[in-house]
Amino acid sequence: MSLVSVEQMLRKAYEEGYAVGQFNINNLEWTKAILLTAEEMRSPVILGVSEGAAKYMCGYKVVAEMVKAMIESLNITVPVALHTDHGSYEGAFKAIEAGFTSIMFDGSHYPIEENIAKTKELVALTKKHGLSIEAEVGAIGGEEDGVIGGGEIADPEDCKRIADLGVTILAAGIGNIHGKYPENWGGLNFPVLQKINEITKGVPLVLHGGTGIPADMIRKAISMGVAKINVNTECQLVFAAATRRYIEEGKDLQGKGFDPRKLLAPGVEAIKNAVREKIQLFGSANKA
Ligand SMILES: [Zn+2]
Repeated sequence: MSLVSVEQMLRKAYEEGYAVGQFNINNLEWTKAILLTAEEMRSPVILGVSEGAAKYMCGYKVVAEMVKAMIESLNITVPVALHTDHGSYEGAFKAIEAGFTSIMFDGSHYPIEENIAKTKELVALTKKHGLSIEAEVGAIGGEEDGVIGGGEIADPEDCKRIADLGVTILAAGIGNIHGKYPENWGGLNFPVLQKINEITKGVPLVLHGGTGIPADMIRKAISMGVAKINVNTECQLVFAAATRRYIEEGKDLQGKGFDPRKLLAPGVEAIKNAVREKIQLFGSANKA
């Protein structure tokens, strides 16, 4: 199956009350692990690519070509969307040109009027190409590619103004943060989420910072219109832990244990397990 936008897969998820995971990719191993797991579980999937990760992988074009070729060579039949993560205004044009099927424009750090103006322009651009667009209101806390967000709570009225521009999906800060959650984290702000869902009725919502949010909060958020949940840090943590274990056990020193195909295998398996768990929790298994 060729790459698709997130429009149909998230409309269905929103209406049927489950969420599709966005799993960020960093290299070939990440991509392969996520695609194979989504296929195994018959789940639609969104591959997220931050500007930093795209740069690391030598640009959007390399990423898009790798993903397309991998879908074909691995015989992936579930719907896959290739989406930018916290993309810039300029980045949107580059990603679309390279073959991405969905973009996120994060204008949350601009004053609301500028966020609206830029989002509006990119809505028109994506519509023209039959692609989907995620907009953001209210910065999400923590660090993403060097951008530190304060973890604002989005203003539901601002959310409505952005939603009314015709965005496909909307990310709103509701106390969620990127990276690991601190011990004293106050949890998701459900009254605000409910208000946003009511006021933007019909626009599937996105929850960023899906690593470490307790399962009951995830389920509750899905029941309030969240149809896409971003997972990035979790795959990095389990990959690093599994790789560390392999080396600490001295396995890289046994036989050909230094072969990258062996050295990286436990980390890849760990990513598969983490993705499997999230797909189960989000309820997207067998929804392809
Ligand atoms: Zn994010």
